[in-house]
Amino acid sequence: MIKLYNTLTKKVEEVERPTDRRLNMYTCGPTIYNFAHIGNLRAYIVADLLYRTLKLDSYNPKWVMNLTDIDDKTIKGTLAEFGAQATAKDLFNFTEKYKQAFLEDLRAVNVLVDEIEIIRVTDKMTEIQEFVVGLLNKGYAYKAEDGSTYFNIEKYQADFADYGQLVGEKFLEGKKVGARVAVDEYEKDNLSDFALWKAYNPESDGNIYWEHELLGKGRPGWHIECSVINQVAFHGQPVDIHTGGVDLMFPHHTNEIAQSQALLGKGNFVKCWSHSEHLMVDGQRMGKRFNNFYTLRNLKEKGFSGIDLRYFFFSAHYTSTQNFTWEALEAAHNGLKKLKDLPLTNEKAALDKALSDLQMPDAVAETFLQNSSPASMLDLFGIPTFKAHILPKKVLELVEKRKMAKETKDFAKSDQIRKEIEELGYEVKDTKEGQVVNKI
Ligand code: AMP
Ligand code: ZN
Repeated sequence: MIKLYNTLTKKVEEVERPTDRRLNMYTCGPTIYNFAHIGNLRAYIVADLLYRTLKLDSYNPKWVMNLTDIDDKTIKGTLAEFGAQATAKDLFNFTEKYKQAFLEDLRAVNVLVDEIEIIRVTDKMTEIQEFVVGLLNKGYAYKAEDGSTYFNIEKYQADFADYGQLVGEKFLEGKKVGARVAVDEYEKDNLSDFALWKAYNPESDGNIYWEHELLGKGRPGWHIECSVINQVAFHGQPVDIHTGGVDLMFPHHTNEIAQSQALLGKGNFVKCWSHSEHLMVDGQRMGKRFNNFYTLRNLKEKGFSGIDLRYFFFSAHYTSTQNFTWEALEAAHNGLKKLKDLPLTNEKAALDKALSDLQMPDAVAETFLQNSSPASMLDLFGIPTFKAHILPKKVLELVEKRKMAKETKDFAKSDQIRKEIEELGYEVKDTKEGQVVNKI
């Protein structure tokens, strides 16, 4: 049984095991207008860790991720590259290279890319339009004078009374609802009706638009895509776990809940919201707009691998911010070497730490304490094993006995056990980190 912190209830809870279907896990993917930085990768490595833990504990998860390929930023980038008359096809070509770069980065940090169902937003345009029309028909959306279609928060709140519950029950207190925003990203103070379908603007959109008889020429707002994609990909089943970075709680996930409940009914939409904290640099969130970011390429130039980065993230809990320094990355690199030198076993030691809200610092400490690295743990960590063999149980028992003999300073016995181990075809070396066992 896995325990996970749920942002909705603000508690660590047991993740229910679906009995008649797979466990549905959804992750908000990136906007593919630029290369990912290592802060972004933290969010996906944490999601991958969760996915691997679910697999190891036989939850049979199905993992779905969207790619935001249509928004203000991807349009801007497309026009800059293909000119003011750029089309939807140009937008596809512009975003495709960042999609491929993103997948390459995920592979480099050993995220199980091939097991994720990855969905581009522009591939679900019809379904998005239908969803928005559904909201119009139910009275939760309206078309404004500017031609765009907006979500009506006041109407939603009157019926559901839970808008903003993800960020806190008192969220709406003292706030005026009703103003409108067309931009995708906005702050909490500017609580407003948000665009579900944005009217085409020839000045800023080139020739990039989709047409719909009721909604008109335009494109989706940012939040609607996730409501639609998880409904389509999970065939209307609930989302068991929805992951994303903490910055997505508002407005993105808050609005996603409102849209989905408005159309599908209250409750049971997402059971557990799981948010990962930010990677920081000198006390500030790593981000494109702060110009304080590193990419995997920057790390490789200094001799670090994607796996070093992955292991670095395990030195902090995902619900805490983590500070990036080159020294800390170096320490992770060295720790990883030691971990790989531990004898490989078939045990499942340390698994309970991972199952308990992904307590990776504890899980790592436990493997060192046990002085062996269980193969299943390395798989969970996403660390490739280079060892060609797993130690036989008999050898492991002898290694354990020898450890005790050494602790009680019974050196005659420890030498005797060393011989027994050698007779089984293995040699033991004593190192600062303990015994290292290799096949002769
Ligand atoms: P974006 O492409 O900006 O939508 O970001 C993609 C993902 O990266 C989201 O889940 C963000 O929450 C996450 N993210 C962005 N910056 C950081 C950071 N500094 N540390 C960890 N995650 C981040
Ligand atoms: Zn999303």
